Amino acid sequence: MKVAVVGARGRMGATVVQAVENAPDLELVAQLDAADTISAQTLNGAEVAVEFTVPSQTDDNVHALLDAGVHVVVGTTGWTPERLAHVDEHAQRLGKGVLIAPNFSISAVLVMHFSKQAAALFESVEIIELHHPNKVDAPSGTAMSTAAGIAQARAAAQLPPCPDATEDDALGARGAVVDGINVHAVRLRGLNAHEEVIFGNPGEQLVLRQDSFDRESFMPGVLLAVRKVGNEAGLTFGLESYLNLK
Ligand code: NAP
Repeated sequence: MKVAVVGARGRMGATVVQAVENAPDLELVAQLDAADTISAQTLNGAEVAVEFTVPSQTDDNVHALLDAGVHVVVGTTGWTPERLAHVDEHAQRLGKGVLIAPNFSISAVLVMHFSKQAAALFESVEIIELHHPNKVDAPSGTAMSTAAGIAQARAAAQLPPCPDATEDDALGARGAVVDGINVHAVRLRGLNAHEEVIFGNPGEQLVLRQDSFDRESFMPGVLLAVRKVGNEAGLTFGLESYLNLK
């Protein structure tokens, strides 16, 4: 399968270039970056393009890639529901597949998935996300998605709010509250990207934890997406759809 990488000189793009070059069933045919134009000619026969650029450019890039005739795997963040709907319509019209995944780490996707399954079975749940100190936003997007999934599952099971007698928290020690779930953010030198979801019932605890030690952690997910994205026209959101999870 012939693959192009857009944002090839970026941190993620360069790691994808390496991963595609190391995959025996994939052939890297184009590396594009900010100064390059996206066209059938510059894509050089690619069947799939992987896009890791910047939130302000990704939308334009994806539409240009679809017009140039390739399936697209996108890791860039910053998508809105309206933009996703527009991509879906465009991809369906051209019979191309697009996967947009906010997190390509298989362990992170599984923590989100298992959290949704466990959510209805525990009285209490809290999330701790831990990252390197250079991260500019908190809580992480993955923690926000995890909280949203848990909140949805708790609502569907008609669970009451998690028990919490705190009346006075002037310093915010109970963390952020995302969709009713407390989320704590740790920023620590030496860490990369990690998430822990703690579930509690009387007399028992379940801890789900994932650790992404470096950008390599995203590559199995990216390559899986490259191999699968052409199987279905339209937009698929989230890597979980490709993992045969029930
Ligand atoms: P980065 O190092 O800043 O790389 C971005 C690259 O895109 C740069 O080489 C940049 O070139 C290039 N670029 C900018 N505008 C472009 C355009 N119009 N066309 C083509 N290339 C363009 O960022 P990164 O760390 O690789 O992250 C990229 C994105 O992936 C971010 O949104 C990040 O949040 C996301 N991300 C997602 C996952 C996931 O699992 N989904 C994991 C990690 C990161 P210049 O430097 O010349 O502008």
